[in-house]
Formats: sequence, C-alpha cells, structure tokens
Amino acid sequence: MTTMLKAQSGLAPTTPAAAPEAGGDRPHVIVLGAGVCGLYAGRVLAAAGARVTVLEREDVVGGLAAGHRLGDNLYDLGVHHLHAFDRDIFEDVKGLMGDRLIGIAKDARIKYGRGFRRYPLEFGDMLRGIPPWTLATALAGLMVQQVANRLRPREAENAEQALIQLYGRPLYSFFFRDFTARYWGIPPRELSAAFVRNKMPRLSAVDVIKQALARLGLREPGDAAVESALAEETLYYSREGARGMPEALADAIRRDGGAVLTGATVTAVETEGGRVVAVRYRAGGNEGAELRLPCDACLSTIPINHLALAFEPPAPPAVVEAAAGLRHRPIVVYGFRVARPRLLDALYIYYRDRVFHRLAEPKNSGLDIAPPEHTILLAEIMCDHGDALWNGTPEAVARVAADIEAEGILRADEIVETHVVRAPEAYPVFALGFEAHLARIEAFVAGHANLRSTGRQGGFCYPNMHAAMRMGAEAARELAAGALVEPRGRRPGASAASAVPYPVSNAAAE
Ligand SMILES: Cc1cc2nc3c(=O)[nH]c(=O)nc-3n(C[C@H](O)[C@H](O)[C@H](O)COP(=O)(O)OP(=O)(O)OC[C@H]3O[C@@H](n4cnc5c(N)ncnc54)[C@H](O)[C@@H]3O)c2cc1C
Repeated sequence: MTTMLKAQSGLAPTTPAAAPEAGGDRPHVIVLGAGVCGLYAGRVLAAAGARVTVLEREDVVGGLAAGHRLGDNLYDLGVHHLHAFDRDIFEDVKGLMGDRLIGIAKDARIKYGRGFRRYPLEFGDMLRGIPPWTLATALAGLMVQQVANRLRPREAENAEQALIQLYGRPLYSFFFRDFTARYWGIPPRELSAAFVRNKMPRLSAVDVIKQALARLGLREPGDAAVESALAEETLYYSREGARGMPEALADAIRRDGGAVLTGATVTAVETEGGRVVAVRYRAGGNEGAELRLPCDACLSTIPINHLALAFEPPAPPAVVEAAAGLRHRPIVVYGFRVARPRLLDALYIYYRDRVFHRLAEPKNSGLDIAPPEHTILLAEIMCDHGDALWNGTPEAVARVAADIEAEGILRADEIVETHVVRAPEAYPVFALGFEAHLARIEAFVAGHANLRSTGRQGGFCYPNMHAAMRMGAEAARELAAGALVEPRGRRPGASAASAVPYPVSNAAAE
C-alpha cells in the first residue's frame, strides 16, 4: 500500500514515499490540496508541532502555481509572480528560498487602441485609445450615471448593473460587455454584482475623472470595484519558474516531519458527531487503491463544492444541491518553445481581441530555458471543459499559433515544441445566485469543529498567491487555537497584527 504513494521533493523526480507514520501524541492534520494555500497552511501547522499530511491530486505540488515539465523545460500555468504585499509571508518565503527567489521589475503591457500601453492603463493612455466620439459619449455617460447614482441610489442586481453604475453605459459597452462575456462564457447580466467588487480590475483612469467630478459635487456614495493593479512593483519568481515557491514550502513541511503526497486524489471525508475522523484518497490516479487516513483535524483547499460532495455520511440534500449550483471556469495555457532568444518586450501583455487574453515570456522573469538560445511563450486562454481549445486539438494549436503570428511576434515554423497545460478549476464563477449556494455549504462545513475550508477553491474567491497563503495561515492558526496544537516558537507568517494587509479579493494582477 505504501509504495503506491508518491512524494514530490525539490525538482527531483517524483519518488515513492512511505505512508505517513504515526506521530506519537502529536495531532494529525490532513490538508486537502497542495496549492500554495494548502502548502502554507501545512507549513504553519507542521512548524506548530502538528503531524501534517498534505494530499494532492496532481503529480506535482503548486496547484495553479505549479510548473509542468516537458523534457528539460518547465511550463507554468500562466503568469505567476509573487507579490511582496504581505511582508510576513514574503519574508518567510524569502527565508526558505534564499537566492532561488529573484526580484524582477514589473513590466506589463496591454494592447490597446493602436499600440501597446503600460498595464494598468494610465489616464492619458486610456483617453488616447478611445475614438473621439466614443470618448465624448463615454464622458457624458459617466456624468449622467454619477447624477443618477446620487439621485436614485439602488442596489445593483447583477454585474451589468454594477458596471453601469460604476462607469456609465457607454464605457460599459466599450470596455466590458463583450470582453466579459467572452472571458467568462456568460454575459455580465448573468453574473452576480459581487463579481465586480471581487474580481473586476478597476479602470484607474476613470477614478481620475471621478475625482474631478467629485470636486464638482458629484461624489459617489459608495465605491465598488477592487483596487487597481500597481503599475510599479518588484515581483518575485524563480529560475525554476512558479513552482520554485511551492516546492520550497513542501520541503519545509517535510523537514518538520510532515508528508506531502502527490497523485493522491481525495475521495471521501469521513465524519462522526460533527467532527472529521478520517480522509480517504486514491493513490496513483483513478485506477489506484483507495486508502484511509485517520485524523484529528482537516484543512481543505479543494473546491468547496467538491468537498461538500465528499462527506461520508453524505451532506444533506440541500447542501448537495447547493454544491451542484457552484461552478468554475477552466483555463488552458498553451506553452510554445520557440527557436529565438527573446520575443516580447515585457513580462506579459494583455490582448482584448485574440483567442488568448494574455501572452507571457517567463524567460524575461528569469526562467531557465534549455537550450538557452530558445525562449518559451505562454498563451493564457479561457475555455470550456472539453472544447477544442481545452483538448488542445491540432486545429486549436494552429489557431493559437496563427493568432500569435498575426501579432508579428513569431513565425509558426519557429515553434519547436508545444506543451498544453490545464487547470479545470481556475476561476470560481460568480454566477447570479451563487452567494446562497456558497453560504449553505459554508454553514454546513462550519458545523464541523475540526474542519476548515479555505483558499481560492475552498473559499470560492480570487486571492493572489500571498493572499491565498495568508488564508491558509489564518485557517491553520484557527485549528491550532482550538487546542489542537500547542504552538512552539515563532510561527511562519505570524505577525503581531495578523490582519491581511492586502485585500484577499485582490485579483487585479492575475
Ligand atoms: C492564470 C492565472 C494567473 C495567476 N497569476 C498570479 C500571479 O501572477 N500572482 C499571484 O499572486 N497570483 C496569481 N494567480 C492567482 C493564484 O495562482 C491563486 O489564487 C493561488 O495559486 C491559489 O492557491 P490555492 O492553493 O488557494 O488554490 P489552488 O492552487 O487551486 O490549489 C488547490 C489544489 O487542490 C488540488 N485538488 C483539487 N481537488 C483535489 C482532490 N479531490 N484531491 C486532492 N487534491 C485536490 C488541486 O490539484 C490544487 O493543487 C493567478 C491565477 C491564474 C488562474
């Protein structure tokens, strides 16, 4: 049984690992999912003295921040830079990674109007990219909307109304309507207004106009969208790509006596009297044997709707129904190794009218590429499960390559290798009515004293990596505070004020 388990350590090949051994009287906490949230939670718990087992479905750790090997190269699941906004977590990661963590000045662009502008868009750039007549109607629309918001304030019923309230109808139509529908697969009127508060990057240029209007007395009663991404910032990465950080976290858990098992798909969460007593998982893919691990507590970072369906005995029918009401939007990332030393004059560039919404060249952030005279280009693409783009059919690969070629970035015949990597649960979909489903599942989970569900998937939200790690640290600490684990010494990521210094919902840089 034990030889079927796999553990991932550093960049060494996956090796069979012993099943976690009994740890005397140390409480055993099982963490579901080895994305950065689960790994950071595991780090906090292991450093606090718990016996930790992390179970991860994939063959590599990192979740969305994993890097997928093909030959000598690693292909990230899209752009993944660590922000240093949470100083405690950043310092902890720096301590673990040392020289492997490299800083890089942010250089992001957006193709907009007739050229490339810095991302996020600055005021002047935004104006320059809008045809004069559209600009005039956009400004008039914004003013009219500001007056309407003031005279007739009303709660937005969906994302379309929320965006119109923020920007006025002409700007909504120009910037958001079609792009949002294409990106999310459903029109804004079918998305919850919460989507605008939690996911939509704010048009900072519009803030400038609004400040001017406020000086004329047209101040907004409330403000909704998330903070804009920063234009200037040092981002952090590693020569092994995004996976350098999750690998370092997994190694730290192991050093503290914990186990990180990959290829371990959670199949059931057994409960008794309102407590989780064991977790069952399948080792080595769907065909593998089902194994059972007893535990004292469980911290889940897998999708909360999947968790709801894994309870044994099963969750009540209303909770199962709520689980069916939540869904995710997948992402597929086409990685092309290209026989050229460099392609982009930026770390990454957003596009609004291509099959991909962003191209990135991780070599510009420091990724080692073999051979060094080649580079790798990543194309991030929103898609649906099972469609041609998701499946990476030859036609789909040709379509993506042709779109890149049409941008004058490369010639298709310079592509020497293609690696398509996928994340089935990349983006929680804030469809109309999702709040009630989520609340029902959360209430059920909260009925289990030794269980926490957190992170991007477990919290059904859009944190950046540092915020997902902070969520993991907080949930781990809550479990520890429940007399589960006696903390010893300074805990990773702990600060006197353990508040999250950057909003958990901030996803502007994704
Ligand atoms: C394209 C893209 C680009 C991004 N860029 C950035 C960026 O530049 N900077 C930044 O800070 N953030 C970025 N983010 C956000 C960031 O990657 C995520 O929010 C963060 O990695 C989430 O971590 P997590 O551990 O909460 O979730 P996940 O990474 O999704 O981890 C959940 C884990 O659970 C596992 N799992 C699921 N089901 C099971 C099961 N049944 N059994 C066992 N395991 C299971 C999954 O395989 C996964 O490893 C980006 C996100 C995307 C999609």
